[in-house]
Amino acid sequence: MVASFEMVKALLDESRRVVVLTGAGVSAESGVPTFRGIDGLWKTHRAEDLARPDSFAQHPELVWEFYNWRREQVRKCEPNPAHIALAEMEKHIPNFLLITQNVDGLHTWAGSHKVMEMHGSLWQVKCTVCTHAREDFSELPDLPECPVCGHLLRPGVVWFGESLVPGVLRLAIEQVSQADVFVSVGTSNLVQPAASFHQLAKDHGAVTVEVNLEPTPNTGLMDFALHGKAGEILPELVTGLLK
Ligand code: NAD
Ligand code: ZN
Repeated sequence: MVASFEMVKALLDESRRVVVLTGAGVSAESGVPTFRGIDGLWKTHRAEDLARPDSFAQHPELVWEFYNWRREQVRKCEPNPAHIALAEMEKHIPNFLLITQNVDGLHTWAGSHKVMEMHGSLWQVKCTVCTHAREDFSELPDLPECPVCGHLLRPGVVWFGESLVPGVLRLAIEQVSQADVFVSVGTSNLVQPAASFHQLAKDHGAVTVEVNLEPTPNTGLMDFALHGKAGEILPELVTGLLK
């Protein structure tokens, strides 16, 4: 483990193109519940069952209650040392991209600039009918309405079963394919297409690294696996980067 740790550090020092993929685990130490962390349940519902377009169509008030609750949860949280280390890493790597599956906005809050929020953001809302979309940090009504056309607004996140914004996926694939090093942090690697990015990176010659509390289905395919808390491992990896 010590050897791996030092090797990953040396690797980051030499690399010019790094892509980091993060998941809910990177925000766990900030107190943002992972879907599993809330025991898979919110009230009596599975979080995964609420983050779906068909659930929103059937019970918009319930889905909005869940999202307003999540917005309130995240409002009480702050970036942790893992977010801050990734904001620092960006300064040392000439071509850097952070692709996050998180919707909490904590990477940006921590100072990261080169961030792709591939599943959108809790702080975005968009109209279900017209093109109105906006960033909104305020407390929202139970069923927020579009100021342009009066129809229902929805959270600006990508739900299970929905496609990613096409440009977003294209850019992610392009950047992952060109990476020297691909690092996945705090993701269970169960949600596609992000769960396949390590393979894409590897097929194009990247060295792959996993940082996670526990092994994932991808661990055996990674060149390096560092298991522990992201908030402890990432600051260690970034401290002393020479570039
Ligand atoms: P996940 O909940 O499926 O997996 C989280 C992983 O992080 C687990 O493997 C866990 O072992 C690991 N982990 C937990 N604490 C950690 C720590 N301190 N350090 C390192 N690793 C830690 O999350 P996922 O893979 O991101 O997929 C879930 C989906 O749900 C994503 O699409 C995501 O958008 C969404 N989601 C986002 C948030 C958020 O924005 N913070 C929260 C919940 C769910
Ligand atoms: Zn509208």
